Amino acid sequence: DTAAALAALRRATVLVGTIRLAGFCQPLPCDAYIWPTARSYTRESLAELHLPGSPPLAAAVVEAVCAAGARVARPGEFTMRAFLAGRLDLTQAEAVLGVIDATERSALNVALTQLAGGLSGPLRALRDDLVELLALLEAGLDFAEEDIEFVSRDEVCRRLEHAARAVAELQRGLRQRWRSDALVRVVLHGRPNVGKSSLFNALIGDVDVAITSEEAGTTRDYLTATLRLDDIACQIVDTAGRGETTVGETEVAGGAGDDAINRAADAKSAAQAGTADVELFCLDASRHPDAWEREQLRAAPASPRVVVLTKCDLSPASDYTELLAGTDTWVATSSTSGLGLDRLRAEVRRRVVVDATEAAGVVGSTAARCGESLRLACESLERAAALAAEGGEELVAAEIRAGLDALGEVVGAVYTDDVLERIFSRFCIGK
Ligand code: GDP
Repeated sequence: DTAAALAALRRATVLVGTIRLAGFCQPLPCDAYIWPTARSYTRESLAELHLPGSPPLAAAVVEAVCAAGARVARPGEFTMRAFLAGRLDLTQAEAVLGVIDATERSALNVALTQLAGGLSGPLRALRDDLVELLALLEAGLDFAEEDIEFVSRDEVCRRLEHAARAVAELQRGLRQRWRSDALVRVVLHGRPNVGKSSLFNALIGDVDVAITSEEAGTTRDYLTATLRLDDIACQIVDTAGRGETTVGETEVAGGAGDDAINRAADAKSAAQAGTADVELFCLDASRHPDAWEREQLRAAPASPRVVVLTKCDLSPASDYTELLAGTDTWVATSSTSGLGLDRLRAEVRRRVVVDATEAAGVVGSTAARCGESLRLACESLERAAALAAEGGEELVAAEIRAGLDALGEVVGAVYTDDVLERIFSRFCIGK
């Protein structure tokens, strides 16, 4: 009777009731959520049993349904079925894992956005436009003899350039996000003696506990520690200091014997600054900025930068307000008095969240998987745009097809079994 009633269901239904299991003295409360139609997570008919949170009870129910002919799902099988049924694309399937794996609220938000179609939507629009363009071009090829043009060369160029730019933009975002999948790197940068180490210690608080690694070698290598900023964790890096061995008129490093050490330290600092997600460029407010510092302020930074005025408990040597007007975000601080440290923390957090997470908005595993496909897609579309300008329709069509294939790999329109295996085997059973 129950089976017939269930088979007759036409709409999603909740049955509130009890379940009787061998070995239990009482019927147990159990609600059944039934999706008889394709509106379920996997687009297959589906039943969920909701039980009190008791491990022996759950184990007994699994045993009973398996005895009745069911089997336990493989890891990720549920989400893989949803993908194969077209309910989710691959970026959304990865976002499911991103939601499960998220340890920070910001990462959870990225995963939820991706699950809601944050990456699928723009990719679908892009692929639809390219498929249409390809159809128009191919129609033109079929009617080449009659000299009928379905789409002008200008329009082909314009649409291809637009598509190449859109893919390049996505690729840029993925790269950022992938790097920050490890801890986001906040690098202190500036002349020796401006107060970087003091700021490092002041920001991380308990120095002895917080220093996590000290690179081997000279004392002028770099230090790293974990910096917690509310809901996010970053790696803060203290470099030895940049520039020549003198700052203004003051000798800051030892004699000639230190030259090799200084050069090595300088190279290390430059390398660290180059890998920064956020750069904290430190300027000593108690002395005049030198030529190198002025140059740094004028030049566009390689990574998002916050200028930090240090030693603001001392009397200022320059009108820094004027010097910094309009250049960068800057914060006045003192490691001695604690002035401005909270503002600096808030500013770093804002930069990290805005630049590394929200701007990219992609789950790390998607970024790692798709970087290469997006690079290939971008190259094909750029070549197609260049060829279109010269008028080689057949070659243009071939490049668009190659671009579509590469984009298809991102969303999973084109996939291989081993790609699915790699993605879904990382899920736990039941997801
Ligand atoms: P680094 O070489 O850039 O790492 O600079 P340090 O952190 O070693 O600081 C260089 C000198 O500046 C030291 O003598 C510090 O005591 C001093 N100093 C650092 N921060 C402050 C500050 O906020 N106020 C004052 N008055 N002195 C500071």
